[in-house]
Amino acid sequence: MTTTDISTERAEEDKRLIMAAYRNLLRTLEGKCDEKDKKNIRAAYELAVDAHKTQRRKSGEPYVLHPIEVARITVDEIGLGPTAVICALLHDVVEDTPVTLEDIRKQFGEKVALIVDGLTKLDSSFNADSPQAENFKKVLTTLTEDVRVVLIKMSDRLHNMRTLGAMPRHKQLKIAAETSYIYAPLAHRLGLYGFKTEFQDLCMKITEPDAYYSVSQKLKETKAARENYIEEFIAPLRTELDDIGVPYRILGRPKSIYSIWNKIKTKKVPFEEIYDLFAVRIIVDVPPKKEKSVCWLVYSTITDIYRPIPERLKDWVTTPKANGYESLHTTIIGPKGRYVEVQIRSERMDEISEKGFAAHWKYKGVNGQPDVFDTWLDSVRDILESGNENATEFINDFKTNLFSEEVFVYTPKGDMKMLPKGATALDFAFSIHTDVGYHATAIKVNNKLVPMGHQLNNGDQVSVTTNKSQKPSEGWLKWVVTGKARSKIRSAMKEERRRRGRDGEEQLRRKFKNMNVDFESAVNTLVKYFNYAHFADLFYAVAEEEINITTVLKKFKAEDGKLVPIPTEKKEEEKKTPVKGSRVLRRFNGTPKLLIGGESSEQYEYSFATCCSPVLGDDIFAYITATAGMKIHRANCANAEHLMANYGYRILKAEWVSGANTEFVANLVITGVDAGRGIIQRLTQEINDLDINIRSFSISGHEGYFEGKIALLVNNTDQLTLAVKSLQNLDNVSTVIREEV
Ligand code: MN
Repeated sequence: MTTTDISTERAEEDKRLIMAAYRNLLRTLEGKCDEKDKKNIRAAYELAVDAHKTQRRKSGEPYVLHPIEVARITVDEIGLGPTAVICALLHDVVEDTPVTLEDIRKQFGEKVALIVDGLTKLDSSFNADSPQAENFKKVLTTLTEDVRVVLIKMSDRLHNMRTLGAMPRHKQLKIAAETSYIYAPLAHRLGLYGFKTEFQDLCMKITEPDAYYSVSQKLKETKAARENYIEEFIAPLRTELDDIGVPYRILGRPKSIYSIWNKIKTKKVPFEEIYDLFAVRIIVDVPPKKEKSVCWLVYSTITDIYRPIPERLKDWVTTPKANGYESLHTTIIGPKGRYVEVQIRSERMDEISEKGFAAHWKYKGVNGQPDVFDTWLDSVRDILESGNENATEFINDFKTNLFSEEVFVYTPKGDMKMLPKGATALDFAFSIHTDVGYHATAIKVNNKLVPMGHQLNNGDQVSVTTNKSQKPSEGWLKWVVTGKARSKIRSAMKEERRRRGRDGEEQLRRKFKNMNVDFESAVNTLVKYFNYAHFADLFYAVAEEEINITTVLKKFKAEDGKLVPIPTEKKEEEKKTPVKGSRVLRRFNGTPKLLIGGESSEQYEYSFATCCSPVLGDDIFAYITATAGMKIHRANCANAEHLMANYGYRILKAEWVSGANTEFVANLVITGVDAGRGIIQRLTQEINDLDINIRSFSISGHEGYFEGKIALLVNNTDQLTLAVKSLQNLDNVSTVIREEV
């Protein structure tokens, strides 16, 4: 056979695959679109096929199969309509092909262009080396613009996770970490339970493959026994349920592999001893008006036959969860004395629990509850608008506020307020009004005076006494958990800082006038000299005498109305230090200065975590270990999620304040095509040309691929980024990734 024969054959095969996928997509759309929709979907499909025609996925299949499948997921598994399908088909077109956003706007209109633009921005931000926290913020910003952007992104991520097998290991790990950190909790919050569960299972398959396969194998082995048991459990219920006279379905569903594994780990019991491997779900088909009464009727029928465990009764029918979930849960003692979890719900509630947000919209207003998603989106907006510049703080706020469960409390007038679980009396004050928070002097819960930091419980009645002369202080931050309260207290502190800083500013004005230098340029010089983020920090430091301005100014002279540093002998020496090509292991010219928990790091013993090796300029936080003192981690460290989630109280904010000449170790993994000898030399040459020292270097290769690991000694993230970019530009290098773990 000639090469042409093979390629025509392959092209034919590709065409068949693509057509089959497209027909499959059209089938899921049946009855959901009119003639005009169909025409537009066809046009989007043709545009996507043409635009991606030369691209293939890592698995080797034609690239366009990906957008087609993403479109199918948005319809089939989320329940979105034709517009979302068009956007999903086009979601990678602008980023990866010559088609522009303008082309899309002309052909498909403003709405589609807007959503595709949102998806493109999200994508490019994820490919860049920006910190996870920043990415997270971007996801949420698009969420408030058009929810469909995030829903399509969820489908995109789900398909990528399902087909992750073809990716190299380090990419799998990175994508899995991002998924469990951002997408799984977000799916949960949007009520997409099916997505959340699958995300968690797929992540576990990558991060803990042995455990994953062991649990899934055991689930398979015990399937028959489980089904028999469920049958035994259901048998006596059938006649009773038939008597109620409404259509119903009973399902016995095993829990997810991830949740079973979690139980094995946290409860330290073997698989065989986990009693709730599955839940029984009873779904009734009744009109909305009768849902509640029929659900309770089913509950009473079941508990006539099996004894319930009262404290396991959860009524999310009367008060849905904040993510829209509605269901009646109970645990009963079933045959052979085993505990069985039973979930009772209507068809509508079931659809909401599977498809979340999208289904919720469809039924908007049906259950007579305030719209929980609208309320939630409002609070997302609140947090985004609070102008929190520090991404790590933002994530912390977000995690405590928007992913957690909630408590319901009441004002003295009986109005209900929803606050995140763990919210305090002072949080409540801020939730009423910023001024009530600022001036709160005494808070009563159920008519008893409580401390400001008192944690609220469901059903508490809370009243706040205010006094105009009361003012928030730094210490208040300890007493609140909500983002709103934290950001309001922080901005009050900032205002106070600014007010006090005015004294410092006045001092500087006088000094600079005497020296005959321009105020603004001199301020800039000093801000740079001290590595402050903002001139206000300089003013404050002067006012509070954190720095002695008279001593500092002795190091400068006035020249042409500008402040110029007087060169010292030491500085001259420093210039000579870097020796090209030297293999010095570590050059310490002083410990880098940090601000830990807002205070100078000098009073702390600390070291840099080796799991993520922070570099000056990285987003960081401090963690107090049980035995090894304080460790500084990167905010996007693989351990961060775990540490923040479980030991939030041991975490302190940390920031860089000085650019001392310290070198940091940064580990890079470089992969590429092994084009024979010379790759090692070219990599090291490139790094030497950048005047960066190498601490260690190893390289291995097989089947025409190489993977190199380089530990670099860099001064800051700028230098690191430069190194990554230059290495990436080398021929035959495909990826350069900073190692996460
Ligand atoms: Mn994609």
